[in-house]
Amino acid sequence: MKSTRMIAALGCVAVALASGACSRTADAPAQSAETKRSYPYKVAATVGMVADIVRSVAGDKAQVEGIIGTGVDPHLYQPTRNDVVALMSADVVFYSGLMLEGKLSDTLIKIARKRAVFAVTELVDEQYLLSPDEFAGHFDPHLWMDVAGWMQAVEAVQLSLSEFDPDHATNYAENAARYIEQCQALHQYAIKAIASVPEEQRLLVTAHDAFNYFGRAYGIEVRGIQGISTESEAGLEDIRKLVGEIVERDLDAVFIETSVPDKNIKALIEGAASRGKTVIIGGALFSDAMGPAGTYEGTYIGMIDHNVTTIARALGGKAPEKGMQGKLTGFKSH
Ligand SMILES: [Zn+2]
Repeated sequence: MKSTRMIAALGCVAVALASGACSRTADAPAQSAETKRSYPYKVAATVGMVADIVRSVAGDKAQVEGIIGTGVDPHLYQPTRNDVVALMSADVVFYSGLMLEGKLSDTLIKIARKRAVFAVTELVDEQYLLSPDEFAGHFDPHLWMDVAGWMQAVEAVQLSLSEFDPDHATNYAENAARYIEQCQALHQYAIKAIASVPEEQRLLVTAHDAFNYFGRAYGIEVRGIQGISTESEAGLEDIRKLVGEIVERDLDAVFIETSVPDKNIKALIEGAASRGKTVIIGGALFSDAMGPAGTYEGTYIGMIDHNVTTIARALGGKAPEKGMQGKLTGFKSH
């Protein structure tokens, strides 16, 4: 498990900065002088949540390309030829880590030989990470669901960019501080909004197990029909059990996710209906991918604001229709 967090790659970066050479191949020129760097340098980031941090912290010093797009499931994502080209031509690569980008791992390991590759969850204390039973031996990768947890990823990006480009460390520190300030406001909003949900309704049922950190941070029980990775299939028995719980608690709403097919959630609703309980789809949540690029929901802050606001309102809590700062567009997946 440790090896997938690419500690070796990080070590290589540190060596590269100290000695001016990282690659062991003879034909790769050593990049020694910081002054030779031209701006904006190129950064590639896997998921949108990571790209959003890097864009905010790097500012105009870097041009950031996101690899995995809107509504796309990172657990199952296979890199295309263009992705490999983008990753190979980047000066720095950021990924989320904790095995989120399962099928990209081999590519990331390969490119880490020649350039700086950072996992934004690298520095998070293992005590902070969840290791649910159903993912025996591995950490839950969905850390961005807890805004306080994701702030640690912001710090990791700031440190990594400052290592890569020490000349602008002050810029990165200022940008990161601004981003963290927004995260703090969002975290407080989420605590308050979810706490306003009546206690018996504080059960979040979604398509896959992406919300464990959300549940821990904001005080709501969570059930995902599929396991932590969307690679596992939900069983009929799991669905039957969940239907029982929904009926028993008289739960008002369950949620679909934008990056996961909704057939299991529909089976759940039908199952509850056959037992005389009407449960609605409370909305589409952004679990492993952000909303459309160029919209508020296409940013990390907007994505979580949307989730919090949608969940709180559908389960009988209090939250403004347009969210924490009046910016939500009323996103619906269909
Ligand atoms: Zn996931």
